[in-house]
Amino acid sequence: MEAVTAVLDSGSLVHGVQHRLFEAEFGSYLGVSHAIGVASGTDALELCLRAASRDTRRKVVTVANAGGYTSIAARSAGFQPVYADVSPDTHCMDPRSLREVIDDDVFAVVVTHLYGRMADVASIREVLRGREIAFIEDCAQSAGARSGQVMAGGLGDIAAFSFYPTKNLGALGDGGAIVTNDDALAYRVRQLRQYGWDPKYYVHMLGGRNSRLDELQAAFLRLRLRSLNEMNERRREIIRAYAAAAPEGVEVLPADDETHAAHLAVVVSNSVERLAIHLAREGIMTAVHYPLPDHLQPAWLDRSAVLPVTEGLVGHVLSLPCFPELEGNEVEAVCSALARYSKG
Ligand SMILES: *Cc1c(COP(=O)(O)O)cnc(C)c1O
Repeated sequence: MEAVTAVLDSGSLVHGVQHRLFEAEFGSYLGVSHAIGVASGTDALELCLRAASRDTRRKVVTVANAGGYTSIAARSAGFQPVYADVSPDTHCMDPRSLREVIDDDVFAVVVTHLYGRMADVASIREVLRGREIAFIEDCAQSAGARSGQVMAGGLGDIAAFSFYPTKNLGALGDGGAIVTNDDALAYRVRQLRQYGWDPKYYVHMLGGRNSRLDELQAAFLRLRLRSLNEMNERRREIIRAYAAAAPEGVEVLPADDETHAAHLAVVVSNSVERLAIHLAREGIMTAVHYPLPDHLQPAWLDRSAVLPVTEGLVGHVLSLPCFPELEGNEVEAVCSALARYSKG
């Protein structure tokens, strides 16, 4: 409330001091040279793609099991999404499949750190070595994940974050950010998020528009950022408890260490529908991330994609409640409901 009042009293509501400080603090938390606030995670993806596009190549490789956001961002910018399959163990991009779908028309690869788990970045970089293809990280689910000293968002050429309220670093509404160590990409993104201006009222770049993070969100995010590591540790604790309680035939995807931001507690099972009904009877809400892969979405149905692992996971994943504010007794209630579930 104090932060909100301070913003209202300041009279500055967009791109003021809170926004400047949040950009600096978020960049320093991630160890990157530029953090740039935008209006949402989807905008962040779209502006990353626009900034990375420097010639006539039109294709973007991504995965089809990550909620469709990259497909939507790519299509909004006039690019064509192409899909690599995922690894059955991690549900993240399979580098071997990536190698198979790359051709001369690909200018960018978007790697989603799905459910909070960092993808196999080293192998993906190996596939991209020697090619002029931008490596974009989708960190919407992985704010705070780290591998040694490197944070998710500092591994690729440029990265997109979402601050949608349920994300690990959630705002009071929509918000997003783009981070990069590349000065030229950062400069292009800063133009793109405000109409292509440089300076104000002089349009120097095509593809620009209005995508801004406002002062209230920035002030709130500065406060939340201070407890992000702690909140992520609590999320991992919850997933560890579920993993310990899950019966045979229900596999909880592990989130054991800091390479996993534990955004979602996902179980894999042959009987997720029955499990969801069982949990609902116990008063426990679940969700499916995600029910329909990108290439099969009705708006653009693309039957040319060959994705056996992605399609094989459809109907076999279910997300359990996972957010840091869950009380101990609530986590226990989920655990005992899981333990009581028998495959039958
Ligand atoms: C939430 C999410 C987005 C989109 O973020 P919005 O802020 O809702 O636009 C993009 N990618 C992934 C993986 C997400 O989970």
